[in-house]
Amino acid sequence: MKAYSQLTKEELQALKIELEQKYEEIKAQGLHLDMSRGKPSKEQLDLSNGLMDVLGSQVSLVSSEGIDCRNYGIIDGISSARKLLADMSEVPERNILIYGNSSLNVMFDTVARAMTHGIMGSTPWGKLDKVKFLCPVPGYDRHFAITEFFGIEMINVPLHEDGPDMDMVERLVSEDESIKGIWCVPKYSNPTGVSYSDATVRRFAHLKPAAKDFRIFWDNAYSIHHLYEDKRDVILELLNECVKAGNPDMVLKFISTSKVSFPGSGIAALAASEANIADAKRYMSFQIISHDKLNQLRHVRYFRDMAGMHNHMRKHAELLRPRFQKVLEVLERELGGLEIGTWTNPLGGYFISFDSLEGCAKAIVQKTKDAGVIMTGAGATYPYHKDPHDSNIRIAPSFPSVEELEKAATIFALSVKLVSIDKYLNIF
Ligand code: PMP
Repeated sequence: MKAYSQLTKEELQALKIELEQKYEEIKAQGLHLDMSRGKPSKEQLDLSNGLMDVLGSQVSLVSSEGIDCRNYGIIDGISSARKLLADMSEVPERNILIYGNSSLNVMFDTVARAMTHGIMGSTPWGKLDKVKFLCPVPGYDRHFAITEFFGIEMINVPLHEDGPDMDMVERLVSEDESIKGIWCVPKYSNPTGVSYSDATVRRFAHLKPAAKDFRIFWDNAYSIHHLYEDKRDVILELLNECVKAGNPDMVLKFISTSKVSFPGSGIAALAASEANIADAKRYMSFQIISHDKLNQLRHVRYFRDMAGMHNHMRKHAELLRPRFQKVLEVLERELGGLEIGTWTNPLGGYFISFDSLEGCAKAIVQKTKDAGVIMTGAGATYPYHKDPHDSNIRIAPSFPSVEELEKAATIFALSVKLVSIDKYLNIF
């Protein structure tokens, strides 16, 4: 296909009439499809149904260290769950603290604690005139929502193929004491799917922040979420790199089993230096007597170890792969060569990131919605919902069936074409 930029006004007008007719036909079907949130499909959830069978009224509910999981106690998690989540986080057990059912909740809580009580004895952020966070973009909307909620000023940092623009990160954190954190999804990033290179991770470990309470918020939500057997990203483990660089306290790693077992009913954990863990644990002792140890026990009995988890993740990948491939196939078929958009082809995680021509994303999402397909709102991948180029759109292929994705991606591509044609026609 010829690039749209090469078409004459008359050719574009003729194409517009043809595509509009197609669009109206599809719209008349009254579809209700959703490519907005990164939720596992029903089939993926079914993979973990065995979790409901490993505990029962006739089964011992005592943990390996002799703790009755039905009762209060053991605020930092039963030892077998600590081992499992430490292995998943690639840190020693002394560096793990088990929380409840959501890592996002741990992140919110960590920022809330820093606001009211400060980090490891430093001034509470809430008492400072200004607190800022660096936000690699495009990024995860719920991260940005947390910092926005607390009135923290967010600064965009471009996210490249190998991680955030580290020249900019190094310069800003070393110059500005009000910069207290950076949001990172280092592996199979939400939404672009990029993984940080070894050089990027090392540069993070060697940061020299002006603020001693600066923390890297390292959300490794997709640590074991590969799509392919033979092509996988591996990233350096940051806590160890920080220890080697003499900055052991600079990173807070977040993890959960949300997209391993049941989202909202999994286990979340914080992995960090012993000093950070002690700080978090002190605060936790005012919040809760103990978390859900039956859920911890259930996960340990079901998955056993990392080999069990990796094996389980392969089954997820078998369900996710055809969905990703379907969306990529439709995008290539419909938009290849037109030069009206680019998209990522990730090796893991939950998203495909699409970049339209500048100034078109909002209109594309609206047009797609009018034809019955919900996408994540344009702008959501940027702080304050402000995409300076109005071009990034997050595609979440996990939840719909492959057949639904064929339809949804076709409608999306059709909307991209129509909005792009309008952009070009406006130029004439
Ligand atoms: N972090 C990232 C990067 C995510 O994409 C998600 C889920 N979409 C979460 C955290 C949420 O994790 P949890 O269920 O553990 O709160």
